[in-house]
Amino acid sequence: MTRLMHRSLITTPPVAVAARGIEIIDAQGKAYIDASGGAAVSCLGHGHPAVLEALHKQLDQIAYAHTGFFTTEIAERLGERLIEGAPEGLEHVYLVSGGSEAVEAALKMARQYFVEIDQPQRRHIIGRRQSYHGNTLGALAAGGNEWRREQFRPLLTETHHIDPCFSYRFQREDESEEDYAARAARSLEEKLTELGPETVIAFVAETVVGATAGAVPPVGDYFRRIREICDRHGVLLILDEVMCGMGRTGTLHACEQEGIVPDLMTIAKGLGGGYQPIGAVLVSGKIRDALRAGSGFFQHGHTYMGHPMAAAAGLAVQETIRQHGLLDNVRAMGAVLEERLTARFGNHHHVGDIRGRGLFRAIELVEDRASKRPFSTERKIHAAIKREAMARGLMVYPMGGTIDGVRGDHVLLAPPFIVNEIDVDRIVSRLGDAVDAAVT
Ligand code: PMP
Repeated sequence: MTRLMHRSLITTPPVAVAARGIEIIDAQGKAYIDASGGAAVSCLGHGHPAVLEALHKQLDQIAYAHTGFFTTEIAERLGERLIEGAPEGLEHVYLVSGGSEAVEAALKMARQYFVEIDQPQRRHIIGRRQSYHGNTLGALAAGGNEWRREQFRPLLTETHHIDPCFSYRFQREDESEEDYAARAARSLEEKLTELGPETVIAFVAETVVGATAGAVPPVGDYFRRIREICDRHGVLLILDEVMCGMGRTGTLHACEQEGIVPDLMTIAKGLGGGYQPIGAVLVSGKIRDALRAGSGFFQHGHTYMGHPMAAAAGLAVQETIRQHGLLDNVRAMGAVLEERLTARFGNHHHVGDIRGRGLFRAIELVEDRASKRPFSTERKIHAAIKREAMARGLMVYPMGGTIDGVRGDHVLLAPPFIVNEIDVDRIVSRLGDAVDAAVT
C-alpha cells in the first residue's frame, strides 16, 4: 500500500522513473509521449542539458536565501529577462512558487493598490464562469469552475462571475463573431453597473481558457472591449496566463495577439518548464509605484518566493527558448498540429470542435455532432480517453465539466515546443485510436 495520497485515492498511477525529450518512462520500461506537457508545463521537454547545467551551477553557488534578507543575482537576472519580453507597461516582477500563488498575489496586490491610492471602498473581484485560476481559496473563489468550487463554497470569499467568451457553445447562429464578442464583453459592463463600478477592484480572466474548457481562444475584439470597459471604470485588468502564456500560443504572451496589456499578469507552468516550481506576477509601473509611494512594501510574501533554484530553472528555460528560436517552432508545429487534428477529426462523428492556438489545442467530444449534444456525465468520456491514451503510451490532458448548464468533454494537447512533424503525427495517430476506443 502506498503512503502517498495520490490524486485518486482509489488507483495508484504508474511510477515515472526517467524522462528525456518528449517522453516519460515508467518503472515497467513503457514510454509515454508527453503530448500535454503534464498540464501545459514541460515546454522544453525533459532532461534538457542547458537547464540541467544551469541548475547544477546554481546549486553549487547558492540554493536558498530568504527574500526577507537577500536578493540573488539569479533572481534579478530572471526579473530583467521577463521584463525585456513583457508587453510595454509591465515593468516589475513578483516571483512566487506556482500558478495559484501568482493569482493570490495578483488579487491582493490589486486590492492593496486601491488602499494605497485612497479608494478603499473597492472590494469586489469579478471573474468568468468559464475559468480556472487555481486551487487555493482566493484563486478558487475567482475561478468559475463549478465542479472544483462546489463543496468549498462556504470557505470562498464572495466573488462575481460574468459570461464566458466561448463561441462554439454560446455564439448564436444568427450572430456574427463581432456581435458575439460585443455581447460577451457587455456582460462585464452589466456586472459593473449592478455592483457599482467604484466598488470593483479587478476583472480577472484567462486570455486563452485552459483547464476548464480546453484551449478556448477569445473571439474578435473581445479583449479590446474588456480593456476599454475596465479603463472607463478605473477597474484593474488581471490576465491569468499561467497555462496559456510563456510561448504556448505562439507568442511569448497570449495577450500580444489581442493587442492589449493588462495591469497585472500571472505566469507559471512554462516559465520554469517543470524543472522547478515557479510562478510570477508581472506588474504595471503604476501599481508598483503606488505601493512604493504608499506603505513602501507589498503586504504579502512566501518563504520560497524568489527561490534561486527556481529562478535558475526559469532563466535557463527562457534563454533556451530564445536562443533556439523555439517560438517559431511553436507556430510552425502548431499549424501542423491543427492540420493533422482536422484531417483526423474534422469529420469525426463525436468531435464537435477543434480549437486553440500554437501548441495549445483541444478537441471537444460530443455525442451528436450536428446538435452539439454532449455525452452524458455517466459516460465519463474524458476519463476514458485518458485511460485509452495512457494504454497507448500517450499523455493528454482530459477535462469534463458543465458551463452555464452545458456539459462538455475536452482533451487538451500542449506538447513541448521541441516537437517535430513526426512527433505530431504520432501524437494525433495515438489520440485518434484512443478516442475511437473510448467512444465506442
Ligand atoms: N491559473 C491557470 C489559468 C491554471 O491553468 C492553473 C493550473 N492549471 C492555475 C492558475 C494554478 O496553478 P498551480 O496549479 O501551479 O497552482
